[in-house]
Amino acid sequence: MILASGAVAVLDLQSVSAWYGPARALFDVSLRVEAGEMVVLQGLNGAGKSTLLKSIIGLADRASGTITWDGADITHWPSYRRAQAGLGYVAEDRRLFGALTVRENLHLAARGDVARREREVLELFPPLAGFMGRPASHTSGGEQQMVAIARTLMTSPRLLLLDEPCEGIAPLLVVAIRDALLHLKAQGMPMLVAEQNRILADRADRVVTLVSGRVGA
Ligand code: ATP
Repeated sequence: MILASGAVAVLDLQSVSAWYGPARALFDVSLRVEAGEMVVLQGLNGAGKSTLLKSIIGLADRASGTITWDGADITHWPSYRRAQAGLGYVAEDRRLFGALTVRENLHLAARGDVARREREVLELFPPLAGFMGRPASHTSGGEQQMVAIARTLMTSPRLLLLDEPCEGIAPLLVVAIRDALLHLKAQGMPMLVAEQNRILADRADRVVTLVSGRVGA
C-alpha cells in the first residue's frame, strides 16, 4: 500500500495566476482535486499546464491566488515545505541524477521505511528491478519516467503532480505507466496529471482543459 491510510486531503486552487517576468501565463485558474481523484489537465503546448503544476509545488517565478492543501493555506510556502506536506511532483524533464544509479536516485529521495518503499515501487514498476544498478543516464526515456515517478513515490507523497508522464515514450511503456497510475488511483492516491495523451484522460475522474492560461469550457 503506497498511500498512508485515512488520508482525505483536498487540493484547492482559487483564482491562481502566474507570470514569467511581465508575461502572464495563467489567468485566475480555480480547480479542486478531491480525495482519491485522478484529474487530467489537457491543453495545447503553451496552454499553461506545466506552469500550473509548478505554481502548486511552489516553483513558479511569480504566482498569485490561493492554494489550499489538506486544510492549510500553502500559497506562500517554499517548495520543500509543500513536498514535506505530501505533494509529490514529477517534472516534465524528470530531473534524474544521470551519473547515479537508479537505486541511488530512489534512495536519495526516500523518507520513512526505505526498504518497504523500495519493495512497493518495484511492485508497481516490475521492470525497474532489471536496471536498479545502472546509471540513470543509461536507461531509455520511458524507463527514466518510471524512475522519476518511483523516486517521487519514495518520498511518501499523499498527492501526485505529474507533468506529461507519457510524452515521448514508447507505446508499451506508456501502457505500463498508465497501469501503474491507475493502480495508485485504485489505492486512493489523488493525482493531477498534465497529459495530452488520451490514454489517461479516458480513465480520469475529471478532465480540465486549459486554453491560453484559462480553464476552458
Ligand atoms: P507544454 O505542453 O509545451 O509544456 P504547457 O501547457 O505546459 O505546454 P507552459 O509550459 O506552462 O505550457 O507555458 C505557458 C506559457 O508560459 C507559454 O506561453 C510559455 O511560452 C510561457 N513560458 C513557459 N515557461 C517559460 C519561461 N521559463 N519563461 C518565459 N515564459 C515561459
